[in-house]
Amino acid sequence: MSEGRSSGNCTVVLGCQWGDEGKGKIVDVLAAEVHVVARYQGGANAGHTVHVGDDEFILHQIPSGILHPGKRCLLGNGVVIEPLGFAEEYEGLEARGITVEGRVGVSQKAHLVMPYHRLLDQVSEDQATQKIGTTGRGIGPAYEDKAGRRGLRVSDFVHPDRVASLVEEGVQRARRRVTLLGGELPGDIGAMVEEALVAAERLHGLATDTGLEILNALRRGQDVLLEGAQGTALDLDHGTYPFVTSSNTTAGGAATGSGIGPTAIDEVIGVVKAYTTRVGNGPLPTGFQPELDEKFRELGGEFGATTGRPRRCGWFDAVLARYAARVNGLTGLAVTKLDVLDTLPEISIATAYRTSCGEIHEFPADTWQLDEAEPVYETLPGWEAPTGEARTLADLPAAARRYLDRIEELTETPVQMVSVGTRRRQIIRV
Ligand code: GDP
Repeated sequence: MSEGRSSGNCTVVLGCQWGDEGKGKIVDVLAAEVHVVARYQGGANAGHTVHVGDDEFILHQIPSGILHPGKRCLLGNGVVIEPLGFAEEYEGLEARGITVEGRVGVSQKAHLVMPYHRLLDQVSEDQATQKIGTTGRGIGPAYEDKAGRRGLRVSDFVHPDRVASLVEEGVQRARRRVTLLGGELPGDIGAMVEEALVAAERLHGLATDTGLEILNALRRGQDVLLEGAQGTALDLDHGTYPFVTSSNTTAGGAATGSGIGPTAIDEVIGVVKAYTTRVGNGPLPTGFQPELDEKFRELGGEFGATTGRPRRCGWFDAVLARYAARVNGLTGLAVTKLDVLDTLPEISIATAYRTSCGEIHEFPADTWQLDEAEPVYETLPGWEAPTGEARTLADLPAAARRYLDRIEELTETPVQMVSVGTRRRQIIRV
């Protein structure tokens, strides 16, 4: 290895569908083997659910690596941080006996989500003719301020005057926009902002150069995991625009959003659910009819971790997964929730879409084309047997192996992990 090249291994784990792929579980399993876990984009809209023993942890901002003692957990510059929620999560973990002190670092360059962002988000979504289905937590408006070069960053807190003027301008701007939309900022907005600023001051105490920390860890031979939120089809550039999130969820975003160069990344693992789900608005080409939709929602517990919103469900979409393999440069796949399919007599996979322009095999840029897309299905036999106890591929029923083989063929990406239940031990490493 040449001088200056990193010697630890740097792996990105990201979602390949519309989020909620079970990344939390995969990151949790892989985090046991690394020294540093860093998030690179998104805000508190993304919730990871992780089961440790009989305990369930829902993490919105702090990387789920925190559940493994001694791991360093970072929030990169690409993340937007909601200070009060962060403080609550931090204290909630400590209250449950998890040591957080000294283990969490936030990028000096990360932007903050303030109460006026949240209010603006809610009013904008209420008034929009085309609703995106945002979580209303202010993530979008905070990223808008970042791109508009008027955002509030963690590093600003060494300059109290600058913070005061940025916040004042933020409130005024939000007031004007909310008024234009026919709403009103609440009278106690000043107190809400004050409270957020007190929590933000504490965040500043955790400030670090995440890119440098990651690179130094790699140079010391330590392994690093970069954890994405949401999924490829929600990427601001590559997703089903405008029904997307406000950040780059894809692998390129892992470099930009953590502060390292792309050449420092060794592996990119794409997490796909064994079927597809979507929360929020926008097309879902393989979406089920109501009866099967309801059945999958029950079988898979498909309700949002942050909002409790029911997710729409559908068959595995290999057109999307192949696209995700391409735009992320995947080196491997982690297939989750295989066990959810255990009782089905037959399982379908979409291999192409029929549209008014003919049959297409590549995921289209035109989101509206997806609305009319009729999936071309290939149907495989189900296995109708429990898979939750399988720990090797050989333990799986032949039909389940065939299903995984077909996903591998269609995506041209090797399946490296298969999750067969919510528990840490319910995993197959290939
Ligand atoms: P994330 O945001 O991608 O981490 O996904 P969520 O946290 O929204 O969804 C994952 C949910 O699925 C959690 O409740 C997990 O415990 C659960 N889960 C993850 N992997 C599996 C699996 O292999 N089988 C089953 N049945 N549930 C799983």
